[in-house]
Amino acid sequence: MQSYDVIIIGGGVVGSAIARELTRYTLSVGVLEKESDVCTQTSGRNTGMLHAGFLYKPGSLKAACAVEGNAEFDTVAKELDVPFKRTGKLIIGFTEEDRARLLSFIERGKINGVPGMRLIDREEMDRIDPSAGGNFAIFCPSSGILDPFTYTISLAENAVMNGATYHLYTEVTGYERLSDGRHLLHTAGKGDFACRWVINSAGLSSAKISDMLGLPGYVIQPVKGEYFVLDKKAGAFAKIPVYPAPTPKNTFDTHATPTVDGNVLVGPNSFNVEDGEDYSVSQSGMDGLQESGARMFKHMRREYYIRTFAGARPKRIDPKTGEIQDFLIERPDNLPGVINLVGIESPGLTSALPIARRVLALIREKEALEENPSFNPIRRGIRRFHEQDRETQAKMIRENPDYGEIVCRCETITRAEILEAIRNPLGVCTVNGIKVRTRASMGRCQGGYCETRITAMIRELLGKDIGEVELGTPGSRMFTGTVKGGDNK
Ligand SMILES: Cc1cc2nc3c(=O)[nH]c(=O)nc-3n(C[C@H](O)[C@H](O)[C@H](O)COP(=O)(O)OP(=O)(O)OC[C@H]3O[C@@H](n4cnc5c(N)ncnc54)[C@H](O)[C@@H]3O)c2cc1C
Repeated sequence: MQSYDVIIIGGGVVGSAIARELTRYTLSVGVLEKESDVCTQTSGRNTGMLHAGFLYKPGSLKAACAVEGNAEFDTVAKELDVPFKRTGKLIIGFTEEDRARLLSFIERGKINGVPGMRLIDREEMDRIDPSAGGNFAIFCPSSGILDPFTYTISLAENAVMNGATYHLYTEVTGYERLSDGRHLLHTAGKGDFACRWVINSAGLSSAKISDMLGLPGYVIQPVKGEYFVLDKKAGAFAKIPVYPAPTPKNTFDTHATPTVDGNVLVGPNSFNVEDGEDYSVSQSGMDGLQESGARMFKHMRREYYIRTFAGARPKRIDPKTGEIQDFLIERPDNLPGVINLVGIESPGLTSALPIARRVLALIREKEALEENPSFNPIRRGIRRFHEQDRETQAKMIRENPDYGEIVCRCETITRAEILEAIRNPLGVCTVNGIKVRTRASMGRCQGGYCETRITAMIRELLGKDIGEVELGTPGSRMFTGTVKGGDNK
């Protein structure tokens, strides 16, 4: 049995932010994650917006955490080497009804502490981004875009650098309280784990884990959102995220958002589902996105579509009224050593570190923590060959010939970058794990050329059998064997 001071169930962006903040102190920290990587669930299936915080009810945790997370992100992105652009955002309107709603959100933004929001006309919109639809808009300067994969990975890596331990492929399946007051977590095939503090950061499964820990009654409604990813050719037109006026339920319909790497995401739509982890997309949903997306982004053309994806927001709802609730961050008095997070939906990416600090504060109210003298907040990512000038590239190739071999032709990703990704500090060794660390296979051909080469490199470096290399989810084998009975080693 392994033992830690604190165990976090769930290694998404929130669990990883908590792990990183806890390593500022001399606590032993373990993260149990059921998947093969840290950003395979909601943290890797979102728009990647750094929200400003004007959408949320004044006084709510969602509002406070979004505004706090937004304000600090320039510093955080530098510390953790996360691609980030403070683009601002347009929230567009077509009708007088939209105008009234937009004005009310400027007021709400003021109350929540969002700086600089103002209504602009079409002429000014054209100066900011002529590709945006709409007749007028709110311009919100503090919104931004970030790479959600790199952000989640960077938090996890920084936590590991500072002493935390990640256990991937480790699903928590049962719980009991030990006679000494500690917690015992049972897992599927990975043994038992004991700890003094247990933190539920299980996203879509947070109500299930609450129940397991002795806190029944929470209800999570998964709300699915589907997206199109558009080629960088479309990205050349998109300067700024373009959102519609919020719906009467204070949510956003389909928006068009440039990514930090130059693609455009069009989506998400939004509908209730039973199984939040079913990430298939529907034809009717994609047809709807085609239409609603074209109202946001004037270059919504089929020739630009390169893939689709879906995610699900874990919305906490009132079981009686069905009303959507605020983030829940609690330390129940009747269950010592338990911290419970439920309903961390949007803006959870923006809010990850503010949420983590609130969790830390709940622990510090109960015990004095000693600072970790060797805590280092700085983490450096993989150096991108294609972002360097010609002279630097030539120098890199001279020093390491692996930079001279292009493995992903669409995104110009070299063998050296793939090898560095395979040696990642979390020990992730799936093809998708390499994809989100390097962008190999994210281009126009979607891995047609490089996926087999990446598989071969994983085998070469880690000595894996051909049937052992997985695409992403546990059990998703790239190959089952060789057709002609060739070398299987
Ligand atoms: C369509 C969509 C768009 C969004 N857009 C934005 C946006 O632009 N900006 C923004 O700020 N937020 C956005 N969000 C919200 C944001 O993505 C989430 O709030 C955030 O990613 C939640 O992180 P998490 O770590 O709580 O959840 P997750 O990433 O889901 O992590 C929870 C982890 O727990 C693991 N787990 C579950 N059960 C167990 C178990 N029994 N044992 C072990 N591990 C377990 C899961 O495998 C998972 O990895 C969006 C969400 C969606 C769905």
